[in-house]
Amino acid sequence: PSISLYELLDRSAKDYPEQAAIIDDNQTISYQEFKEKVDCLAASLSQLGFKKGDRAALMFPNSAEYCVCYYAVLRLGGIVVQVNPMYQIGELEYLLENSRSSWFFSNYVQRGKMSEIKISQITKNIYTVNDEKDTLGEDEYSLYDLIERGHSKEVPEVSIAPKKDLAVLQYTGGTTGKSKGVMLTHFNLVANVYQSFIFTTNGLKRPGERVLAVSPFFHVYGMTSCLNLGVMRAAAIICMKRFDIDHFIDIMKEHKPTLFSGVPTMYIAIINHPEASPEILRSLKRCISGSAPMPVELMREFEEKTNSPIIEGYGLSECSPVSHRNPVGDHRKPGSIGIPLPNTEAKVVEQHNGEEEVPVGEVGELVIKGPQVMKGYWNNDEETSLALRNGWLYTGDLATMDSEGYFYIVGRKKDLIIASGYNIYPAEVEEVLYEHPAIKEVCVFGVPSSYRGETVKAVIVPRDNMSPGEEEIIEWCSTRLARYKIPKEIAFRSELPKTTVGKVLRRKLVDEEITKSK
Ligand code: ATP
Repeated sequence: PSISLYELLDRSAKDYPEQAAIIDDNQTISYQEFKEKVDCLAASLSQLGFKKGDRAALMFPNSAEYCVCYYAVLRLGGIVVQVNPMYQIGELEYLLENSRSSWFFSNYVQRGKMSEIKISQITKNIYTVNDEKDTLGEDEYSLYDLIERGHSKEVPEVSIAPKKDLAVLQYTGGTTGKSKGVMLTHFNLVANVYQSFIFTTNGLKRPGERVLAVSPFFHVYGMTSCLNLGVMRAAAIICMKRFDIDHFIDIMKEHKPTLFSGVPTMYIAIINHPEASPEILRSLKRCISGSAPMPVELMREFEEKTNSPIIEGYGLSECSPVSHRNPVGDHRKPGSIGIPLPNTEAKVVEQHNGEEEVPVGEVGELVIKGPQVMKGYWNNDEETSLALRNGWLYTGDLATMDSEGYFYIVGRKKDLIIASGYNIYPAEVEEVLYEHPAIKEVCVFGVPSSYRGETVKAVIVPRDNMSPGEEEIIEWCSTRLARYKIPKEIAFRSELPKTTVGKVLRRKLVDEEITKSK
């Protein structure tokens, strides 16, 4: 539907004012209170001069504060610039400069950092300051104070054209290069909420569900699947600031969440935790996995322990983010990302010219069309024209499609390994290694080789108290993979470098391994 994101909140607050909306540490706010805080903040911001189209950078972990600032900015027709709270000064400066943000919202922790930043565009800073001793400088405001002061004020009517007006600038994670600002409209994001609803929470209660929100809101996956979807379903959203497995178990015990959206590395941590028993996990009704390939073996192990199916989704920031999902039950195909969401078209095209569709079963680039596809990259026509061609989004992912229209990701175009002229897809080798009982986590990539061009290397994290040998692993692969796909080099580590979203930082790992071997 053609509505703005704020209307999702407005509807739930009207329908279920008393219902718990946000649970953050020990504080719970209802939908009515949530909307009131948003309206009060919006009223104060507009008095400070906030205008439609202003960019407002939000730098928070998952918290009630983030949620209030997010919908207040959107209500005024502002554009939320998503900032990862782990960012260092240089990364933050790049985002603020690139987006030309004139507002900066953050929790206290980041305040010190701002004083080091000298960016002329930033005119107003809003912090979560609530200590009397804290003094605020010029153009610095306390978030709580602004909410308080907004009580008696009117919020101006701002008309929003959902298809035209931008809601969010989502900077890509940068696992492949310089971060680009993905422009998402209200329509893109609302469309994806409704599309995701059909395969995730359809058939569940409205209200009454409880979302365990650990996937960060500052990333499009958590923003859509935990925050916006949770608000649309009038669910209680339990904020977790970062993924910590012991804390996860505590939250399972205390709040009994029914919905969980995670990435494969979180599922790995859960099944390996001694306390993650079926009793503890029983409240979960639907679990979603996305962001990276979900090994089939892992899915099976997790489902054995819970009542909940894992619904695997595929997507990218440019798609708000979801474009595909693997159906559950008899229609699921393990190892596949499934079929496109409603109103979404997808096909696999020749990877070099990007034009002809390739025959069933052959590898090519996955392209997508649908209401959730971005408007383009912020101030970057060159990248936009590469990514959006003839109405299709070029994902940069290599995939195949089978005769029933199910899609399979074979890897990113940039991660493809070419050894002695053979194409090797890291995901295929990783799947085989994940089946090995002593392997907890693995990442496969190519390293330069003067003889083969590239050589397959695997970095392995063994399961606790296990130490598989190199020969044993090669032996394992030799009965399951063609010779040229078997890793020629193996390294062991106790953990893999990850983004704050929990994705393996492939580029960093490859660089480290290459430097080590020099
Ligand atoms: P960057 O685009 O800068 O590298 P990023 O990886 O964080 O950063 P996202 O938009 O968050 O960018 O990630 C999208 C990518 O994640 C997809 O293009 C795809 O490669 C991968 N991905 C997402 N879901 C799945 C899945 N279910 N199976 C396999 N790969 C997936």
